[in-house]
Amino acid sequence: MRPQPPVVRSAAGRPAAATQASRGSGLDSEAVRLALVRRLVAQGLQHPAVERAMATVERHRFVDTGLASQAYEDISLPIGLGQTISQPTMVARMLELLCAGRTQPLGRVLEIGTGCGYQAALLSLLCREVYSIERLRGLHERARENLRELRLPNLHLILGDGMLGYPAGAPYAGIVAAAAGPELPSVWLEQLEIGGRLVAPTELSPGQQHLVLIERTAQGWKRQVLDAVRFVPLKSGVG
Ligand code: SAH
Repeated sequence: MRPQPPVVRSAAGRPAAATQASRGSGLDSEAVRLALVRRLVAQGLQHPAVERAMATVERHRFVDTGLASQAYEDISLPIGLGQTISQPTMVARMLELLCAGRTQPLGRVLEIGTGCGYQAALLSLLCREVYSIERLRGLHERARENLRELRLPNLHLILGDGMLGYPAGAPYAGIVAAAAGPELPSVWLEQLEIGGRLVAPTELSPGQQHLVLIERTAQGWKRQVLDAVRFVPLKSGVG
């Protein structure tokens, strides 16, 4: 299936993919990005909006120039300060879990762990309002820099401890975490609206992480333990 035209627009109103393809790396990013999306679809990605978002956001602008040529391989990459950007398959899987069953954009969504800002940019295409919180100042600032040119007015970057959630934006239609703790902080569950979904890696036993999906219903919280995964640790405090 051919992805639809990119939806991110530059300030001048031209498609971002076309105006930024040559930025720095000399990479013909659109062709390699669409090839990556075709591989994701072949591996099972089904949600059209997630597919479109992955075809639109340029992953190479979120990693160091030296790594740009690897940006469209299905691998995780270092983003500095000991952190990593997840492999595209994992990002697509989490976004698909978050958006499952929805044909309209999600409402307000909270991302814990902005990192380089890549997944936050994808979320901004899938949700009406995105709050993305990062505890490391260096990465918070790098994400701001990476995202500046994209001008995504519905994306709010916050420096803070995501273990506390972000009460100012609550309740959320979705919460997605990019770092794994031994259990899900109870404030995340409380900040989820009824009908909302939370997707987070969790270390259910030492060294064993799994994706956990929580769906909040009027009766309570329904929990499913899904794929075995490997994420950086969720830590408290701001550094
Ligand atoms: N979604 C990111 C992935 C970043 S890796 C991207 O697209 O790049 C996970 C991030 O979670 C790291 O940057 C790490 O610093 C951050 N993190 C870990 N614990 C956190 C916490 N309590 N609050 C906010 N961010 C946290």
